[in-house]
Amino acid sequence: MSNDLDSLLRSPKAYEWSRKAIEAMEANRVWPTALNFELWMHYVAAKDGDVASEINTVLSSGQHFTEQVAATIAEKHLPSAKLSGEILDAGKSLTEELESVSRALESARESSEAYGQQLASASKSLEHDENAEAVRAMVETLSVATAKVRDENKTLETQLAETNDELGRLKEHLEQVRREAMTDALTSLANRKAFDEALAATCAEAQATGEPLALAIVDIDHFKKFNDTWGHQTGDQVIRFVASVIGRAAHTSRFAARYGGEEFAVIFPGESSESALAVLEAAREEVSSRILKRRSTNEDLGAITISTGIADLQKDEPPVGLIERADGALYASKHGGRNRTSIAGPEAEVRAA
Ligand code: C2E
Repeated sequence: MSNDLDSLLRSPKAYEWSRKAIEAMEANRVWPTALNFELWMHYVAAKDGDVASEINTVLSSGQHFTEQVAATIAEKHLPSAKLSGEILDAGKSLTEELESVSRALESARESSEAYGQQLASASKSLEHDENAEAVRAMVETLSVATAKVRDENKTLETQLAETNDELGRLKEHLEQVRREAMTDALTSLANRKAFDEALAATCAEAQATGEPLALAIVDIDHFKKFNDTWGHQTGDQVIRFVASVIGRAAHTSRFAARYGGEEFAVIFPGESSESALAVLEAAREEVSSRILKRRSTNEDLGAITISTGIADLQKDEPPVGLIERADGALYASKHGGRNRTSIAGPEAEVRAA
């Protein structure tokens, strides 16, 4: 499909299809970002395609077509996004492979050195034993041979050391690429992909050990109105501000991520909703007490508030169930008047802080 899209974009009908894609985005209140445009070109150009069917599912469910939704569809169906995930996975296994090769080389070098040392000390211990003349002569011959091999190995060792350094640099580079792919560019918090992986891993660990785990979902109140009033750039600064408060609250083993546009998630492994509540109430107060200024004009931006939902992981509950209950609690915070934190019960009930 990507090749088809490429040729479509260079065909006489390109502008017509582009207009259709933009109209469809506008009709569905979807931002015309580069990624959305690519997806919606697939949508208008291949009505029966996988991308179109995913988009239709989102639209018919009444869900907003957020950045996150777009990223998920792209990851599944757009070759470029799929490829970057595959490159990362390949990078990860290459790193593991290289690590095992360099461990094997290091251990071979160590045993060759130990062997040489053993021969040298055997030769030394025979120095004063006259009956062992023949054995000593043999060990000496072996020592000379070993020394020769060792000399020859020296060059190889130098080369190996250089290769090892190069592997180290390559590994660091791969780690950096992986880190960047897991980080949200605007806030420097973990992104949704990293969050999904962390939640799956920490929930599995909590289920296995019986340790508690709480999940919080935080949303900036009235963000859309705020964005419409002050513009996207200021909206982005507000997201960065809330992210910085949440990031500071999520130190140690806690894990904070940008979950969607103006939504954040914090995983509290080993903690209950009560301790998560204390942390998020402090964050809520910090956010609402700060007077932010619009940098271009120095105008006060008015109070920024956040609403939060928290849920405790239940026995045998899958991560998706935990997210749903935390979302339910967030919904309760919004409907209870915003600027508040609510905790979900084990079922659907919610209580406000
Ligand atoms: P940033 O602009 O990159 O600022 C990073 C950090 O540098 C801030 O973290 C703060 O510790 C410090 N900083 C930057 N500018 C000032 C300043 O004029 N006075 C003081 N005292 N410190 C400053 P912080 O506060 O956690 O904010 C994180 C991000 O939130 C900022 O990133 C910015 O994107 C946004 N933000 C925070 N306050 C405001 C504000 O009043 N207006 C706007 N437009 N954005 C803000």
